[in-house]
Amino acid sequence: MSEVFFRAAEDIGPENTQIDQIIDIFPKISPVKQGDIVAIKIHPGELGNTTYMRPVIVKTVTDLVKEAGGIPFITDTTVLYSGKRFNAADLLCTAATNGFTHASMGAPIICADGLLGDDSVTVEIGGETLERITVASAIANADSMIMISHCKGHPASGFGGAVKNLGMGCLDKAGKTAVHEVARPEIDIDKCVGCKKCLKYCPWGAITVDREKASVDKELCRGELSCLGSCAYQAIIPPEDAPVRMQERLGEAAMGPVKLLPEKIGYINWIFDLTPGCDCFNFSAPAFSADVGITASRDPVAIDMASLDLINEKMRNTKRGCVNDVWGIDPVIHLQYAQKLGAGSMDYELIRR
Ligand code: SF4
Repeated sequence: MSEVFFRAAEDIGPENTQIDQIIDIFPKISPVKQGDIVAIKIHPGELGNTTYMRPVIVKTVTDLVKEAGGIPFITDTTVLYSGKRFNAADLLCTAATNGFTHASMGAPIICADGLLGDDSVTVEIGGETLERITVASAIANADSMIMISHCKGHPASGFGGAVKNLGMGCLDKAGKTAVHEVARPEIDIDKCVGCKKCLKYCPWGAITVDREKASVDKELCRGELSCLGSCAYQAIIPPEDAPVRMQERLGEAAMGPVKLLPEKIGYINWIFDLTPGCDCFNFSAPAFSADVGITASRDPVAIDMASLDLINEKMRNTKRGCVNDVWGIDPVIHLQYAQKLGAGSMDYELIRR
């Protein structure tokens, strides 16, 4: 059973700010040793998103890493979709716009998978669907890591926390493709009107429109599915089993960074601004739950299980259903697969204060 430390949103006040809570909780989960080069893995938010992790939280962790004798850098990876984090140049510009710069953080911001998202280390993970996975090299080569995850909903996994940050956010483009490739969509020819709006949403050129009907080239498609929202006619259809099959791969892929940095990762989940969509969306919809607080652990599966239970408790208390209702997806599936490969345990002891 793994320990998960919890500081509640309700307890926040002038003598107990979020900063105080982070300072209090950090030593309980920090793996940082004197002289460690420490990756601080965050999601700096897509351009237009306004509910990503507050920079001051990351700055606080950066200062704590320095106090512990570590050499911190702030990091994230490039994405598969057409947006403002597709390559390292765009990613760092977006991070700066959203408040994450060397000057504001007191540590360099580094794109972990290189300029074009292909700089990685291959790890054998021995999963049922993924034998190996490619982890972004700046994360793979760090001595230790603090992963700060903004908890929120997600259209593919139902929920995004630490396991998703490991099994997607720490991978290069090839790794992300391996997780997504079970989600290549089909076109419903009867619904497609040939408007071509979907074309600009696929950075891989996988969609073409011929004789007023779209089609998807399965060789070029990465299964990232951001094209779905581009079609006003709901003509782009994901495979029915995509949420389960993607969660299986997501859970297995989480083992990659865990295997590379055994006992060297501390996790902080920031459970505020619980938007239905992830921070890769270029907008922020209203939250589906009230704020919950901060959890921290050395176990990525336990911290996500505890965070989900806490959100569900909050939603039940306010008669707002549960996380499964947000996308009609059971997010526990990806935690089960992560546990199965040994990334962590769903059994936890919640230590409140
Ligand atoms: S956006 Fe939808 S309707 Fe328009 S071409 Fe693409 S699939 Fe067809």
